[in-house]
Amino acid sequence: MKSVRFNGEEVIPSKIVCIGRNYVEHIKELGNSIPEQPVIFLKPNSAISENIISGGDNTVHYEGEISFLIKSGKIAGVGFGLDLTKREVQKSLKTKGLPWERAKAFDNSAVFSDFIAFNCNITDLRLELFINGSLIQYGSCELMLNKPEPILKEISTFLTLEDGDIIMTGTPKGVGTVIQGDKYSGKIFNGEKLLVEASWTTK
Ligand code: ZN
Repeated sequence: MKSVRFNGEEVIPSKIVCIGRNYVEHIKELGNSIPEQPVIFLKPNSAISENIISGGDNTVHYEGEISFLIKSGKIAGVGFGLDLTKREVQKSLKTKGLPWERAKAFDNSAVFSDFIAFNCNITDLRLELFINGSLIQYGSCELMLNKPEPILKEISTFLTLEDGDIIMTGTPKGVGTVIQGDKYSGKIFNGEKLLVEASWTTK
């Protein structure tokens, strides 16, 4: 089983619960409509990877997301996550009304920084994704259509969250194609204070 690190210890998530269409500007960039209910989908444990891998034949898009680690049914830690997406496959599945797993749940489709406990106000959390030194994505809990606590409540109406499970809260605008050899740096801040960061060179 794949693992992530929370406060320096190895944790094995049973699943990753992802929120789609949670930032208005990103909904516009993909030409989607604002959902009446949160859009929720899953990635399995096998999707977790330490590497960002470019797509070959299939266009893989990066989606930087504020991610939370669950313990005892509560949000216990925060980290930076990448929800990697085969965009062309997703478009085709969407138009046919089919499930998204081929576009979202494939091997290496979930990449995370370490997770750390935090004690700030959750709405003060924000993310930055730099690619080759340029700020490409910026988002904050404040800009989310569905905030973390209501998301947790909604998920818990139909899914049991085990210790170590991860919630990915959706991506802000600025998604694009993963290109081999690019340098990624994902950061989570409490206001101006850097809480956690991770760097990758894409493969
Ligand atoms: Zn996403």
